[in-house]
Amino acid sequence: MKVYQRLVKITGNFTGFFFPYIGVTLLMSVFSLLNFTMMIPLLDVLFNSDTSFQIPETRLTLDQFQFDITFIKDYMYQEFGILMIEHGKLSALMLICGFTIIASFATNIFRYIERRMAESYKRNAIANLRTSIFDKVLTLDIGYLTNNRKSDIIARSTTDVGESEAAFGSIVTFIKDPVMLIFFFGTLVYLSPTMTMFVFLILPLSGISIGLISKKLRSVSHNLQEITGNILGVLDETIVGMRVVKGFNADKYVSKSFEKSNQGYVKEFTKYASKRELASPLSEAMGVLFVGILLYLGGTIVLSEDPSLSAAEFMAYLVLFTQVLNPVKAISGNISSIQRGIAATERIFELLDADTKIKDKENAKSLDSFQEGITFEDVRFAYEDNDVLKGIDFNLKKGQMLALVGPSGGGKSTIADLIPRFYDPRQGSVKIDGHDIKDYTLNSLREHMGIVTQESILFNDTIYNNIAFGAKTTLEEVKKAAKIANAHEFIEKTDDGYETVIGDRGSKLSGGQRQRLSIARAILKNPEILILDEATSALDTESEKLVQDAIQHLMKGRTVLVIAHRLSTIQEADKILVIKEGEVVEQGTHVDLMSKENGIYKKLQEMQEYTQ
Ligand code: ADP
Repeated sequence: MKVYQRLVKITGNFTGFFFPYIGVTLLMSVFSLLNFTMMIPLLDVLFNSDTSFQIPETRLTLDQFQFDITFIKDYMYQEFGILMIEHGKLSALMLICGFTIIASFATNIFRYIERRMAESYKRNAIANLRTSIFDKVLTLDIGYLTNNRKSDIIARSTTDVGESEAAFGSIVTFIKDPVMLIFFFGTLVYLSPTMTMFVFLILPLSGISIGLISKKLRSVSHNLQEITGNILGVLDETIVGMRVVKGFNADKYVSKSFEKSNQGYVKEFTKYASKRELASPLSEAMGVLFVGILLYLGGTIVLSEDPSLSAAEFMAYLVLFTQVLNPVKAISGNISSIQRGIAATERIFELLDADTKIKDKENAKSLDSFQEGITFEDVRFAYEDNDVLKGIDFNLKKGQMLALVGPSGGGKSTIADLIPRFYDPRQGSVKIDGHDIKDYTLNSLREHMGIVTQESILFNDTIYNNIAFGAKTTLEEVKKAAKIANAHEFIEKTDDGYETVIGDRGSKLSGGQRQRLSIARAILKNPEILILDEATSALDTESEKLVQDAIQHLMKGRTVLVIAHRLSTIQEADKILVIKEGEVVEQGTHVDLMSKENGIYKKLQEMQEYTQ
C-alpha cells in the first residue's frame, strides 16, 4: 500500500485527476447500464408480454419523481404502455431503439474520455517518475556511481520505469472498476438477489484459478527477461568490440554464443507461450461452466409458479452479468503485470532513496571569494576497505601551480577528487582559506573550480552547447574561448561550425579536438581554481602541441592542481609532490627534486627521457 501512496504522490496533482475521472466513470457506468437495461422493455415488446405495459389506475407523474430504480422503472413502463396503446407497438419499438442508440453513444463518448484521461495520467506519471530518477541521479555521489552501479541505474530508469506503467495502470483500474462493479452489481441484486448470492459464492473460485495461472507465468517470464538481457548483452559487446571480433576472426565464436542465447530464448518462450495460451481457453471454459449453472438456476426461477424474475429480466441479468465479469477479469488477468509493476516501482524507489553522503550541511555558507589557498591536513581516504590516501599534507597557495606525479594507482586522482568534494576524506580535512570545505555549499565551492579530465567529457550536442555547457554566454565569448584553446580553427572547418553536432560523446572528433573543446569550456568558465588531469599521452605529436599550448593558456593566472603524466610539462610548477601508495614521498621544485640522488622523481624523469 505504501508503494501506492508514494506513486500517487509522485504523479503530482492526483486529486485533479481523481475527481473528474470518477465523474466520467460514473457517467459512463450510468449510460452503459441504461443501455443494457433497455433490453428488458425491448424483449417485452417483441415477445408480446403486454402485461408489463398496463396503464396503472393512479398515474405516476414527474412531480413525484424519486431517484429510485423502482420509480424510474414503473414510470418508464407506464409511459411505454401509454405509447403502445395510443400509437401501437412499432412506435414503442422505435422509442426503445432510439434510447438504446443514445445511451450507447453516450457510453462510448464517456468511455473515450475516460481512456484519454487514464492514458494522459499514466504518461504524465511516468514522465514524472523519470524526472525524479534523473534528478536523483544528479545528486548521487560520484562514489555511488562508480561502484558497479551504472548499469543497474540504467536498468532501473528504463526497464523498471516501463514495467511500473502496469502499477500506474492498476491505480486507474482500481478507481474505475469498483465504480462499474457497484453499479452493475447493484442492478444484479435488484433484479435477483438469489442468483446474485450464488454468483458471489462462485466468482472467487474462477478468480483463484486465473490467479494460479498468472503466478506460473510470472516465474517463467522472469527467466525470459534474463535471457533477453543475455541476448542484448552479446549484441552490445559484439558491436562495441567489432574491431577485435573481426581482427581475431572470432565471428564464428560470437555467432555461436549468440545462437546459444537465442535458442535458449526460443525454448523458454515456448514454455511461456504454452502456459499463456492456456489461460484464455481455461477462463473461457470456466465462464461457460459458470453461465451454464446460472442459466439453469435462472431458468428454474423464471419457470416457477410465481416467478420473481420475468424472462426478459433474466436475459438482461445474463447480459449484465457478462459485463460484471469484464472488470473482474481485467483485475485478475493483470495481476501478474501489476505485481511486476509494483516490484519494478519498489526498485525505482530504492534508487530514489539512495543515501547521498555528500551534501550541504546545515547552515553551510557560500564561498564568495578565494583569497589564500587550499590546504590538505592529514587527509586519509579509503574506497571501501583499501586505504588509498594515508595522511596527505600540503598547501597550494593562490596563484601557484602544484603538480602531482608518481606511479599509477598512487592516489593522485583521488587527491584531486577531494577538492570539489566528489568524495569526503575519512579523516583530516581539506581547507580553503583556512576553513573546511564542508562548511561551504557545494554549489559555491564548485563555482570556483574548473576541471579538465583525462577523458574529455562531451555530450551529443552542438559544439557551441558543449563549450557553453549551460552557462549564459554569447557566441562571441564562446569563440574567444575556443580561440584561446586552439579549437576555433578546426571548429570553423566543420560543416556547421559552432552548430555542428559532435555525436555520441564527441565521437565525430579526434582525441585532440575533444581535449581542446574541454579546455575551451574551462576557459569560458574562467575558474580561479583549476584541476587538471593532464592527458596528452594518447595524442599524436601535432595534437599534443596544440593541446599543451591550450593548457598553458588555460593555466595562466589561476591556482592550478595538475596531475602530470608528462613530466616535461610541469618543470615550471611551484611545487611538485611525488605520490606513491597514498603518501607524499618527495616534494619540492623540479630543480630540488632533480638534485636528489636516487630520488623517485629523478628516476621517473630519466625513464621518460629514455622512452621519448
Ligand atoms: P592515480 O591517479 O595515482 O593513478 P587513483 O587515485 O586513481 O590513482 O587510485 C588510487 C587507488 O584507488 C588505486 O589503487 C585504485 O585502484 C583505487 N581506486 C580508484 N578509484 C576507485 C573506486 N572508485 N573504487 C575503488 N577503488 C578505487
